[in-house]
Amino acid sequence: MDLRERCLRCCQPVLVCFKKTRSAEDTRQAVRRKDIEVIVNPHARQTGPGVSLRPLAVEKTDVYIALYDYTARTEEDLSFSAGDKLEVLDKSAGDWWYAKALTGLRVARRGYIPANYVAPVESIDAEPWYFAETKRLDAEKLLLAEGNQHGAFLIRNCESQKGELSLSVLDSRTVKHYKLRRTDSGHYYVSKTKPFETIKELVAHYSQQEAGLCVRLGEPCKKIEAPQTHGLSYNTVDQWEINRTSIRLLRKLGAGQFGEVYEGLWNETTAVAVKTLKPGSMDPKDFLREAQIMKKLRHPKLIQLYAVCTVGEPIYIITELMSNGSLLEYLQKDNGVKLRIADQIETAAQVAAGMAFLELQNYIHRDLAARNVLVGENNICKVADFGLARVFMMENENVYEAKEGTKFPVKWTAPEAINDNKFTIKSDIWSFGILLYEIMTFGQMPYPTMSNYQVVQRVPTGYRMPCPPHCPKVLYEIMSDCWKQNEQERPTFETLQWKLEDFFDMDVSSYDDANRY
Ligand code: AMP
Repeated sequence: MDLRERCLRCCQPVLVCFKKTRSAEDTRQAVRRKDIEVIVNPHARQTGPGVSLRPLAVEKTDVYIALYDYTARTEEDLSFSAGDKLEVLDKSAGDWWYAKALTGLRVARRGYIPANYVAPVESIDAEPWYFAETKRLDAEKLLLAEGNQHGAFLIRNCESQKGELSLSVLDSRTVKHYKLRRTDSGHYYVSKTKPFETIKELVAHYSQQEAGLCVRLGEPCKKIEAPQTHGLSYNTVDQWEINRTSIRLLRKLGAGQFGEVYEGLWNETTAVAVKTLKPGSMDPKDFLREAQIMKKLRHPKLIQLYAVCTVGEPIYIITELMSNGSLLEYLQKDNGVKLRIADQIETAAQVAAGMAFLELQNYIHRDLAARNVLVGENNICKVADFGLARVFMMENENVYEAKEGTKFPVKWTAPEAINDNKFTIKSDIWSFGILLYEIMTFGQMPYPTMSNYQVVQRVPTGYRMPCPPHCPKVLYEIMSDCWKQNEQERPTFETLQWKLEDFFDMDVSSYDDANRY
């Protein structure tokens, strides 16, 4: 049964009950049990034809709150603003849900929404201060970004202890972190003497008074960027060969070895990057096979492949757009000079995180280098072009033909890959060591005084680059580990990730039960 009445003044529904036929008593009981939510229509008390006095009641489990603004990209999409309530009607499309707006400018309209832009109403995920998978370092970056005032805060999942939460607070220009501990009965506390049943209550308490924190909690930290949607729209998730007329090339961003890269607009609505491939640079069939796999590899530190145009030439590869271009250019430009050692390590940690995901998926990049890492806002880095080397027919000055018909970017490639064509995740580790060198030298060419030929001759006999100037010894040790002759002695990306992230894990210092850290 679908019971709906609309207010004639504002067209807002005044009662919705999709799921079950519900008597008035059932509704009252459901409200008492808090199974459904009551939203009072502002015009509900007005009299007149078609104006009901009843409130809007919706199954709470299907009601979601928008965490970010979203602008419809297709006619089938639904636009919404952060804070709007949406009723989800169909989740079968996976990453895109069919929903109806319950509040906001588009109330009662229906359409597809990205599932990762909403959270169940009243869940902790729906709280504006909850930044679930945010690492300590990212929390600091977010809180120190423009727009946050003294007292801005967020709560995040603790990195070191699974299931625990941490509170990060901006105290003038520094960020302090507190562990939110639990009592035996599951209550949360910062100070043992003041436990709370829920995190919400804890936040409300410390928003009223400092009560021992460095500062009274102010506004939740500003969310800088909405996450990437999964695919461009609900119908490009599976059907990702798109019509090239839906892409408008706006401006050239750069030229790579296999073609040009443009900023483009999909469907006149959505900014994307478009890689146009020189005719003949790859076999469309090979590419499509590889792209099937690449498309499934989704991680915040990997560039997402959105769609392709392989019908006709040139082939288009459509990916997410990164505002600061390649890491190599970023390191070499003025930006690089502004980077501090902490930023350099963080860049390396982000690449290691993306690669650790590929490692877990048993996927090999084959061409890991600063030129194949892209930079977005706030130094966010993502690994690009994974797997493409396998389908490209290589031709470029960094590429060396060790044996007839096999060409590699020699200075980045492990000896066993050059000599025996043995590409594994361990040869990616070798390349990561070279990438670390590029990061620490602000984009200098590796083996600066040597030719490709000299590198091929000397590296197998034990030659390694010396520690770059101003590079901490511990980082040089990591590079050297990546360049071990025996590939089995090289570390895993998982280890590299935690080693690099650990540079930021400071010692626990004390505040009330040694709780601040
Ligand atoms: P490539 O062909 O991948 O070597 O790319 C050539 C240049 O285009 C890079 O150096 C970047 O500056 C730029 N570029 C490539 N992909 C993107 C992207 N997804 N977003 C922004 N810029 C990009």
